[in-house]
Amino acid sequence: MRTIAILGATGSIGTQALDIVRRYPDRFRADCLTANTNAEKLFELVREFQPTAAALNVVPDYIPEDIRPVQWFFGPDATVRALAATQPDDALCAIVGIAGLDAVMRALDVCERVLLANKEALVTGGDLVTAKAAERSVPLLPVDSEHSAIFQCLQARHDNPVRRLLLTCSGGALRDWKKRDMYAATVRDVLAHPTWNMGGKITVDCATMVNKGLEVIEAHHLFAMPAEKIDVVIHPQSVVHSMVEFEDGAVLAQMGMPDMRGPIGYAMGYPRRLPYDAKPLDFAALGHLDFAAPDHDRFPCLGMAIEALKTGGSAPVILNGANEAAVGAFLRGQIPFGRIAEVIDATLQALPVRPIASIADVHAADEEARERAFMELGMRN
Ligand code: NDP
Repeated sequence: MRTIAILGATGSIGTQALDIVRRYPDRFRADCLTANTNAEKLFELVREFQPTAAALNVVPDYIPEDIRPVQWFFGPDATVRALAATQPDDALCAIVGIAGLDAVMRALDVCERVLLANKEALVTGGDLVTAKAAERSVPLLPVDSEHSAIFQCLQARHDNPVRRLLLTCSGGALRDWKKRDMYAATVRDVLAHPTWNMGGKITVDCATMVNKGLEVIEAHHLFAMPAEKIDVVIHPQSVVHSMVEFEDGAVLAQMGMPDMRGPIGYAMGYPRRLPYDAKPLDFAALGHLDFAAPDHDRFPCLGMAIEALKTGGSAPVILNGANEAAVGAFLRGQIPFGRIAEVIDATLQALPVRPIASIADVHAADEEARERAFMELGMRN
């Protein structure tokens, strides 16, 4: 039996992780559940899972009588306080955005294992996160499907050098759109992801393909690979989750139906695989698998992210901060889709790249990036 904190319990990843907890009550106890503002959903989850502690970023109007005995934490640092109070064996970090970075760092202090979905924590604080994980010998188990796939392929590495990582990419909702139509794509168009059902922010990130760029940065940090050895390949069926190429040219791929419970369960049960009601891959029904090179002209954010990784320092933080600001504005209906890439580009061009030596440096660079991005958008932060 392992105790686990589900940070971002009310989200897409969080609720699917709780589905696995529900299936394996003899293996996991959800000891700490957290959310941002969705008090009603968190109340329901607390009622069902009876954790030791729960945290909300805001102070709710009330707490239902029956769940008052739980240790409650409220306010902007509620998640890290709840983690410190419960000290679970594992933390599944599934907060969206850089907002999850401090919780990842805290989880590395208090947990035996960190299960990482929150890619923006690695994009912005990657060197600091991996250094702390190494210093405390805490495994960082990837939850992102591509990184889980690579991690699974690397189980067969046996110290052999890796020539290349190949990250597959569905292409997002606008994969087949003409460039001239993409600028004015609506929130509804963009949220209609062809193969994965995910939270709003990551679904927009898939449509701009900045998500694949964030994943290149994430792979760089998780697997200590330089940008030059990480390639992106478009694969519309989303059944090859990613691949590893070795020096003899052999390529190992991890495959399965697109269902996040696969990689979430793999991280939770590692090294055991936890069966769930996954649909088997039907190769005959699939008939063929397609692969193509990404189109950098229609999806400029991918190249911007890879360049930011190569530049280093605060460049990935600037990219991420500008993206979070622009995606938020797009989801609120304040800007057209095409402005997202323009704002990221303008913010990267405008700001100096600074060294990053601490989490405080990351937050300062993020703040500067958001301010600049909002200025580009003609809005207030
Ligand atoms: P969702 O938007 O569905 O959920 C986000 C969760 O984080 C919610 O529980 C939300 O609480 C909480 N949260 C949001 N902002 C804050 C904050 N400021 N402080 C504390 N908690 C906060 O996101 P996803 O589940 O889709 O994604 C989570 C992470 O996993 C992202 O980094 C994403 O890139 C990554 N990921 C997601 C995949 C997916 O399939 N969804 C696949 C691979 C990676 P509330 O409900 O109260 O707002």
